[in-house]
Amino acid sequence: MATPQAEAVIDLDAFRTNLSALAACAPGSALMAIVKADAYGHGMVPMARAARDAGAPWLGVATIDEALALRAAGDTGDLLCWLASPGADFAGAIGAGVEVTASSAEQLAEILAAPVDVRPRIQLKVDTGLSRNGAFGAKWTELVAAAAAAQRSGAAEITGVWSHFACADEPDHPANDAQEAVFDRAVAEAHAAGLDSVLRHLSNSPATLTRPSAHYDLVRVGIAAYGIRPDPGMTYPTVLTPVMTLRGRLAAVKRVEAGVGVSYGHAWTAERATTLGLVPLGYAEGIAVSASNRAEVAVGGERARVAGRICMDQFVVDLGDRAAERGDVVTLFGPGTAGEPTAEDWAIASGTIAYEVVTRLGGRVVRTYRGTT
Ligand SMILES: *Cc1c(COP(=O)(O)O)cnc(C)c1O
Repeated sequence: MATPQAEAVIDLDAFRTNLSALAACAPGSALMAIVKADAYGHGMVPMARAARDAGAPWLGVATIDEALALRAAGDTGDLLCWLASPGADFAGAIGAGVEVTASSAEQLAEILAAPVDVRPRIQLKVDTGLSRNGAFGAKWTELVAAAAAAQRSGAAEITGVWSHFACADEPDHPANDAQEAVFDRAVAEAHAAGLDSVLRHLSNSPATLTRPSAHYDLVRVGIAAYGIRPDPGMTYPTVLTPVMTLRGRLAAVKRVEAGVGVSYGHAWTAERATTLGLVPLGYAEGIAVSASNRAEVAVGGERARVAGRICMDQFVVDLGDRAAERGDVVTLFGPGTAGEPTAEDWAIASGTIAYEVVTRLGGRVVRTYRGTT
């Protein structure tokens, strides 16, 4: 079968295996598979289906539009979203049975004002120290009071209280204990106000892997489900298999003499006669320019380094003296089991995190799916 010029091969079996392994890390808690941002670049709808197959009772996305896209694709299970600017389609979300998040009393009022016949299911977000979304201190007290009133009057069902860690990828960071303590107090406040059957959740992937005290009723796993370690320098209790392999086929192969400058700005010069391969992916596909001259690929199971600047549509690799032909498969990253680099390696080479390496993929990359569907 022909390999497209630029292809992300997604291993659904690996994804399901990772989800099961993560569920086993938090045995007393429900699992929410996070499929925001097009499932971290893996394709939201197929990954959502695979997550449901793997038994995930919950899915999580950032925006209402993402949630509605899942409903339009036929998903009917428990689904939470949490990031909405004023004017967001709360009525659409509530009507579709999506649970929405209130991060302030003002946002709760906006949700309650949405013109729908069904009672909204609302979770409350407390800011325990990330200082992103969520209510903190007196604002939390205000949100809890308004939410409890809405529950008492039957205007809403308050189903959860949750928060998000700032430093969970550093298990020894003091902010983790501090956030957990703030969370416990916030939950106690909600209980005292009469919101006593809320689902409590705080953990992302790193906390699911390293911090049982923060598992509560549910854990929200994103990056680890895609087989990427939250911190590549750490050893985790569970083996994770990278789900995505990014590859293409060499569009050109040529022999050049020593001294030849390669790609824009001649940022790389051949030190000796060598063979260059042309890889048909560039920054339009999300390949970072900052990986120029640094990242590696695999051709025929052997590594080759990027030579010169990464361009919009393409980049060059230095193949040395090996035999290579136009059309040979070039693997940018994958599980790392056949000599190829991983997304974590590309993250290091481009000065970013592996989350960004997979999530920003786009352009002309075609996604294909492997494994039982
Ligand atoms: C993205 C996100 C997650 C998942 O984080 P990972 O580190 O990828 O596991 C969990 N919760 C919230 C609120 C998020 O925005």
